[in-house]
Amino acid sequence: MFAARTVASMITSSGKVIEIHGQKFCVTCKQIRGHTCFHMKYRKSETNDDAYSKEERRVCDRCHTEKVVVKEIPIPTEQAMLVKLLMSLSEKYELKGSVPVSS
Ligand SMILES: [Zn+2]
Repeated sequence: MFAARTVASMITSSGKVIEIHGQKFCVTCKQIRGHTCFHMKYRKSETNDDAYSKEERRVCDRCHTEKVVVKEIPIPTEQAMLVKLLMSLSEKYELKGSVPVSS
């Protein structure tokens, strides 16, 4: 048997201890259980230049099953936000398919 994992916190570079708790579905318990996130890592996405991937490790409080969740999060750059705004505008005013105005 594995040693019981008691680490339920992590320490940031500034020395602050972070504990993240949340109710998540546990596949082992087949129920919603309290989970503790003890590891979080951000790194640049290898497939998408405008995104970074977030790796999160959490353990079920009941059965201690470890789960790794990797999410791709878009970087909210000014340019990306502008593109999004323009796209929503063109949708709003039904300008989709029209010739873009070049400056
Ligand atoms: Zn569980």
